[in-house]
Amino acid sequence: MREPRAIFNSASVPPERCVFCRIIRRELPSHVLLEDKDYIAFLDINPFSRGHTLVCPKRHGETAWDMTEAELGGLFTTASEVSKGIVRAMGADGFRFVQNNGEAANQVVAHVHVHVIPISLAQKGRFMDRLKLADSEMGQIADSIRRELSHVEGK
Ligand code: 5GP
Ligand code: ZN
Repeated sequence: MREPRAIFNSASVPPERCVFCRIIRRELPSHVLLEDKDYIAFLDINPFSRGHTLVCPKRHGETAWDMTEAELGGLFTTASEVSKGIVRAMGADGFRFVQNNGEAANQVVAHVHVHVIPISLAQKGRFMDRLKLADSEMGQIADSIRRELSHVEGK
């Protein structure tokens, strides 16, 4: 296959300054739901719905094209596992996977991530605005999801 053209992202930063690498290194706080040696899942700080989670590979890469097929497989497998805990804990009826690549796609953090956004039938077709939840509520949400994920290996 021909080499694809580079994806433009004005948010490009080296791993030392990358927000998600800093969360992975515990230099920044977050509500971590699940972690193994290759992937991490934590609550989005500015969620579209309660339980909105980001799943990242620990290895820094900007877009899906920087990942191997095996890494992408592992990323979505982890996101799928996490989605089950989120949907159960939040009493949701469905969920979205969203994965933005590049400025044009609204990627704001240039470290590959999959959004897992739980949705209820009551929200079907409605515009979803960002929520700003108190850290205590974020903590309760994280606890309830972690309980649902306690059986997952490598946690
Ligand atoms: P993107 O638009 O790049 O696909 O999404 C980036 C997401 O990262 C956004 O939904 C945003 O709310 C979230 N985010 C940005 N900075 C932080 C942070 O410091 N901590 C957490 N937990 N999420 C963040
Ligand atoms: Zn990074």
